[in-house]
Amino acid sequence: MQMPNLKEAKVRTQNTPRTINYNIKEDYKSLGKNKTYFIKTYGCQMNEHDTENIKAILEQMSFRESPIMENADLILLNTCAIRENAHNKVFGMIGRIKHLKESKPNIIVGMCGCMVQEEIIAEEIKNKYKWLDIVFGTHNINELPRILSQSLKENKLALEVYSIEGDIIENMPVKRESKYKAWVNIMYGCDKFCTYCIVPYTRGKQRSRTKENIIKEINELKKSGYKEITLLGQNVNAYGKDLGVGYDMSDLLSEAAKTGIERVRFITSHPWDFTDSMIEIIKKYPNVMPYIHLPLQSGSNRILKLMGRRYTKESYLELFNKIKEIPNVAITTDIIVGFPGETEEDFNDTLEVVKACKYDSAFTFIFSPREGTPAAKMIDNTPLEIKEKRLYILNNLINKYAREANENYLNKIVPVLLENISEKNSEMLMGYTDTMKLVNVKAPKDKLGQIVNVKINEVKTWSMDGEIIDEI
Ligand code: SF4
Repeated sequence: MQMPNLKEAKVRTQNTPRTINYNIKEDYKSLGKNKTYFIKTYGCQMNEHDTENIKAILEQMSFRESPIMENADLILLNTCAIRENAHNKVFGMIGRIKHLKESKPNIIVGMCGCMVQEEIIAEEIKNKYKWLDIVFGTHNINELPRILSQSLKENKLALEVYSIEGDIIENMPVKRESKYKAWVNIMYGCDKFCTYCIVPYTRGKQRSRTKENIIKEINELKKSGYKEITLLGQNVNAYGKDLGVGYDMSDLLSEAAKTGIERVRFITSHPWDFTDSMIEIIKKYPNVMPYIHLPLQSGSNRILKLMGRRYTKESYLELFNKIKEIPNVAITTDIIVGFPGETEEDFNDTLEVVKACKYDSAFTFIFSPREGTPAAKMIDNTPLEIKEKRLYILNNLINKYAREANENYLNKIVPVLLENISEKNSEMLMGYTDTMKLVNVKAPKDKLGQIVNVKINEVKTWSMDGEIIDEI
């Protein structure tokens, strides 16, 4: 058993991360013969992409995917640690699965992802959920075949979660969710240690993949017919800083654009590392999409300092205004309300920034203390009702601006990558504009995977409807 340790997870050294080439032993390749798996994924895009790797590894082991959890021989929960309610959701689901395991004792049940990297959660599992079969963390997805084989052999919980700075694992197989758009990891981990955030503890230090491996992956995706890639990392704008070769995110963005793939996106940005040269590259290349997610978190300088965000309201607005000069750009954000000690005045500062920025949309949250982070120890005496009221006021404002931003699209013709059948109407297809607006389009299914010109006929707060004018 290998348990995570919060103190070890905080350590940052100058050591260069190891690059490990994934491969699977022959012995493990038939472990899942005639068996099926089901994975439930919680949380961010990083987790979604990890699930794509885990699925491919399981398929190398001969498992096949089951769309229904109750029919699967292996059930895996890929968990998220960002907020407290994720904990409740996951353990609620584990309770359901326990009943299933009582009637089908041979099913294999596992947990992985950020939540199990938390010391307190791993302890909880060790003490109260011994009936689980496998638990592994974010640093050792590549070891899944060995961990699973061990659990099957010994018929007991195999819990292996490391608190290390982390490696870079290359050549992991991937079963992508979409045939048209793909995640491309460019870096792992984070060294920012914002005081409320658990990510630097669960995902290790910032480590960038080499540009050669990234560009090779983009070229392969383009060759296989992918139309869109999203460069993925906790703080992509800091890409390359750890490599020390003077090659940064703007260089990578321009090289990604030069591959000629039709759409390049990136997520997530930290305002601190957003450079003017990145803005120039986005303006220069039409295949770098004019969509930026720029987390604000708070509009109060006092709260930003307590959060350890390293920017002020003024410097954020200066950056925002520079980004706004990108033609046709859409900007979204993340905002936390009710951070410990947030006063009415602090909250009003946040509203002022929102009014100045008129975001295209925003993810808004009530502060959720994460055990082990500095913010969890800060005095927080704002009652929940007040936090909820602030969230309500904020959301009303966000919705108003989201609606207004969408209204600008009415009767306009915009490019949309059609990626799936619409959830609201099976006769329609859904896709996203270059600016990341969700559009439902009256279109035949053979248009799936194409970027088409769509005339917007109707706008709502969170989506639009339109029809194809002609193909691009
Ligand atoms: S930059 Fe993002 S991932 Fe890193 S500590 Fe701050 S909030 Fe967390």
